[in-house]
Amino acid sequence: MVNSQDESLYNEDYIEQPGYRTVPYEHITIEGHSRAAIQTFWRIPEYKLGFDMGAMPWEYAGVPRWFFSHMHMDHCLALPAYLARRRMAKMPPPDVYLPEEKVSEARQLAGVFARLDQGKLPCNFIGLRDGDTVELSRELVVTASKTMHPVPSLGYIVWERKKKLKPEYASLSNDAIRNLSLSGTEVSRELRHPKVAYLGDSSVEGLDYNPDFYRADVLIVEMTFASPGHRRDSLRRHGHIHLDDIVARRDKFENKLIIASHFSVRYSDYQIERFVRRQIPDMLDGRLILWF
Ligand SMILES: [Zn+2]
Ligand SMILES: [Zn+2]
Repeated sequence: MVNSQDESLYNEDYIEQPGYRTVPYEHITIEGHSRAAIQTFWRIPEYKLGFDMGAMPWEYAGVPRWFFSHMHMDHCLALPAYLARRRMAKMPPPDVYLPEEKVSEARQLAGVFARLDQGKLPCNFIGLRDGDTVELSRELVVTASKTMHPVPSLGYIVWERKKKLKPEYASLSNDAIRNLSLSGTEVSRELRHPKVAYLGDSSVEGLDYNPDFYRADVLIVEMTFASPGHRRDSLRRHGHIHLDDIVARRDKFENKLIIASHFSVRYSDYQIERFVRRQIPDMLDGRLILWF
């Protein structure tokens, strides 16, 4: 989807785009590409947010806030290009959220590129920790959850929220409710629903650490390794998930859509499909998508 503001940025005839895939889910769209050590980037246009930035299709520059799972190169390499394109298009400085341990380095990186470029690369860098909440709008909240990777890392859950009248006031007239509200009584409570969960790079302990990952409507999970016989301890050390980890937890996934991604480049798409279908022939009741 390219909005009119983005269209002025480029002419498609001249730009070679990093390819990405798009899957609609209810009123949102999951877009992105992810392959271990190559590049990982995701966007949900309706929420106006993205996760990670290993590459940057031109139209993604219109997204005003970005959540980084961690700062391995294949997840953050396009950050300077993103900042420069927004500046070129006179868009406001973006909000970039990342593990707080890396904020200072990210700021320095933008500063060095600004000096190389002899221009400005304005950006709001915001550090997050496990358990932090970011209020994006009246309807949207993002929470950060620690994950297990060899560098500081976070997963994110996007919650949709709405106000609902407390049951004890349900029988009152609209006027009575308004008067109560004006007098300072809290007549409604907030309902939150986990809509999209993005794990980022992590061993499976990152999923187990926060059961909300298993409850979100859409779960974007990494499955770097899929071949039989991979040594488990080496997986844990590198902070990645193996197909066997998913199989062992198949009854925990309440998600309606599970996107497995970030496959190792040692496998072809065909091999991954074969490994997974051998162990999960029903593809988790058809909810599991392999994201190539
Ligand atoms: Zn990665
Ligand atoms: Zn990584």
